[in-house]
Amino acid sequence: MRADNAGDVVDGNAVAGLLAEVFEADATSLVGVCGGCQAAAPLAETVVEIDEVAAIMRCRTCTHTLLTILRAPAGTRVVVGTLRELRAQ
Ligand SMILES: [Zn+2]
Repeated sequence: MRADNAGDVVDGNAVAGLLAEVFEADATSLVGVCGGCQAAAPLAETVVEIDEVAAIMRCRTCTHTLLTILRAPAGTRVVVGTLRELRAQ
């Protein structure tokens, strides 16, 4: 498969560098856009309900769940809620 012009279909390896541009920063400094109310704010400014097994990150503006981080013996995983967009500042 070629990736030398728009419209080519390739596998996910082709976006490794693009993803690294977003995720290389401290994740809490990433700006999240809420799909519920369109508010944009750093993840550090979300409201978090946290216990030993889960951290629920809620939009400070509308309280929708942006994402949930789950701790389990098999590893930590992220379940995406109403988070519409993540971007580096
Ligand atoms: Zn919201």
